[in-house]
Amino acid sequence: MMELLIATKNKGKISEICEKLSRLQIKLKNLSDFPNLEEPAETGESFSENAILKAKSYALQTGLWSLADDSGLEVESLGGKPGIFSARYAGEKASDEENIRKLLHELEGVENRKARFVCVMALCNEKGKIKFLAEGVCSGIITSEPRGNNGFGYDPIFIPDGFESTFGELSVEIKQQISHRAEALKKIISFLCNFTAL
Ligand code: IMP
Repeated sequence: MMELLIATKNKGKISEICEKLSRLQIKLKNLSDFPNLEEPAETGESFSENAILKAKSYALQTGLWSLADDSGLEVESLGGKPGIFSARYAGEKASDEENIRKLLHELEGVENRKARFVCVMALCNEKGKIKFLAEGVCSGIITSEPRGNNGFGYDPIFIPDGFESTFGELSVEIKQQISHRAEALKKIISFLCNFTAL
């Protein structure tokens, strides 16, 4: 059976990804199975560059197929910020609350609240060769204050299109159906289904 390393440390992402992939004939590993790995610096200039460099680094360090993602929030009126800097928007070790506070401060009085979550996933084989790249997008708007405790990151201030509640208020099940990560993952799953059927 194929072994696949889910190359992320974010617990929210791990549970979203593993839940979906658990239906495949693949043995899932995660980074806690390999405590001594070096964490690659996210020096890329785009979501895809960062996803690729993480997937490659972990594949080469473990000798396993690796799936890495890079994701973030793009706010239209801020020219796409925070983008690839979403996790560290308010500083290198900023908490989710600090990042949210900074973003809401920058959007004070701003009418255009359109934003989108973007996720790029890179799948790399055990030799460090990228085999598949998938992008997912989830569009919505930014609220004026946080609402709900579900999810992680900017979930409490993001209302996906077609809903009136934030991802922080919506159930995990709904988020798993419509999120940017879910969309990218669907493409990864169909690639893996074809691949493992070979
Ligand atoms: P990454 O771990 O480098 O991909 O950084 C992603 C950052 O983007 C996270 O730390 C969050 O701040 C934000 N982000 C990405 N996906 C989501 C999501 O599904 N909900 C809320 N915030 C997210």
